[in-house]
Amino acid sequence: MDQIVIATHNLHKAGEMETILSAKAGWIDFRSLRDFPGAPEPEETGSTYGANAIIKAESALKHSGLPALADDAGLEIDGLPGELGVTSKRFAGIATSFDEKMEIVLSSLRGKPDEERRARFACFVALARPGCETKVFSATCEGQIAHAKSGQGGFGYDPIFWLPQLECTMADLTAEQKHEVSHRGRVLRTVAVYLQRVREASDS
Ligand code: IMP
Repeated sequence: MDQIVIATHNLHKAGEMETILSAKAGWIDFRSLRDFPGAPEPEETGSTYGANAIIKAESALKHSGLPALADDAGLEIDGLPGELGVTSKRFAGIATSFDEKMEIVLSSLRGKPDEERRARFACFVALARPGCETKVFSATCEGQIAHAKSGQGGFGYDPIFWLPQLECTMADLTAEQKHEVSHRGRVLRTVAVYLQRVREASDS
């Protein structure tokens, strides 16, 4: 596997995934869907992160003929069960900005006990290869919902995701610091170790 397509048109996400993976799998030439004109961005019709990651990775494999990696992620909040999760991007409506989504989360939790602020980001990654069963990897990052937004880094819900061990939000971290602790960083390091094993097995 010398080339892998990262199954997104989003250059920020593709760049972030490539940075994390390249640290351990530097021999791979990573592409994104932007390198394959006409590549569809399939509808995420799965009811789980894993199912959606598989849909995206297999669609990219079908279009490009190359091994493909796709991720699907979300935020889970104990006090708002079933409200975000796989549908985190659509919480409170797709047209609602993340600033407003975060305000809704903060006001829904105001005055609630600390247990209800427990939260985690989850990230599932699917690796689809020609002639092989698609493999799924996953990781989480545990934290809490903060009492107010903080930080300018990251994206999405990062400004309200409090990391007790670091005493800051995910958005207070630099990109490198975020990759160290984040769900996406963790799962992609596992993927990179798997890619190394596949390479060693094909060399021997
Ligand atoms: P995606 O599957 O990576 O596109 O993530 C879906 C949604 O989950 C995003 O639109 C965000 O709302 C949320 N999300 C996923 N990962 C993160 C993260 O690292 N920080 C903040 N929000 C995230």
